[in-house]
Amino acid sequence: MQAVLALFLSLALIAVTGPVSAAGKLDVVTTTADLKALVLAVGAGRVAVESLTSPSQDPHSAEIKPAQLARLRSAALIVRIGLDHEPWFRRLNLPAGAPVLDASRGARLLQTETPRLRVERRSHVHAFGNTHYWLDPENARPVTASIMEGLTRLSPADQASFAASRTEFLGKLDQRLTAWKAALAPYQGTKVVVIHDTWTYFADRFGLSIVAAAEPNPGVPPSSAELATLTRHMREAGVRVIIADPHSSPALVKHIAAHSGATVVTLVPSVGADPAADNYFSLFELNVSRLVAALR
Ligand SMILES: [Zn+2]
Repeated sequence: MQAVLALFLSLALIAVTGPVSAAGKLDVVTTTADLKALVLAVGAGRVAVESLTSPSQDPHSAEIKPAQLARLRSAALIVRIGLDHEPWFRRLNLPAGAPVLDASRGARLLQTETPRLRVERRSHVHAFGNTHYWLDPENARPVTASIMEGLTRLSPADQASFAASRTEFLGKLDQRLTAWKAALAPYQGTKVVVIHDTWTYFADRFGLSIVAAAEPNPGVPPSSAELATLTRHMREAGVRVIIADPHSSPALVKHIAAHSGATVVTLVPSVGADPAADNYFSLFELNVSRLVAALR
């Protein structure tokens, strides 16, 4: 009887502290590859992380497979971007007590005051502020702080190790941020047009001026009248560069380039969406070098 009770108590303890995988690691599921990279930066060797979406797919319209759903339900921690970045997340119907960490809490958010029409539930229209906040390297600080808190709650004994990994990561990030800022310093205030408002945080951090987004409402394609106004405005304002995403409609990008005379540069919005951007540092390294090449 005592042995059964002891077993019951130890199982209850596992349920409270969160499941640990066979390899003794904390099972973490993230909604994006960028959050996976940041969890790995803090969790080092203590976490096993899986991202629900692949960086080469549109994160706003993910189809979650049954195996992923099972992993999600047994995860010790689920880290998501939040706001309306993952319109599919609520349809997962996770139990009320699921260990979800919303990484947008504590991040510095932009465009939260922009009134947005919520066209439909599936849409990703930045209704609560721009969701692409991981593209400001400074936001890695509050996001990794939330992750560190979440991991430490699961494994208090690893607190010092998580803190040390995060400090080392942020130290390297600060060093590189100085170099990225220096590389883009000659182009401060340069006017650019984006297709989707993916680059709001990036532009704000590195001093580019986004004069317009081709999608007046994020996620909603522009009308031909809106396109005509946009390209006229670009010619008048002397906008030389269009920033596209890998998911941008090639026909739309081509049309704007042809009618405005501006050069297109495709930037990489997520870790792993390009082989050369295989971690959080190389993501910025690649984007800064592509921009410099386009602006030079
Ligand atoms: Zn967006």
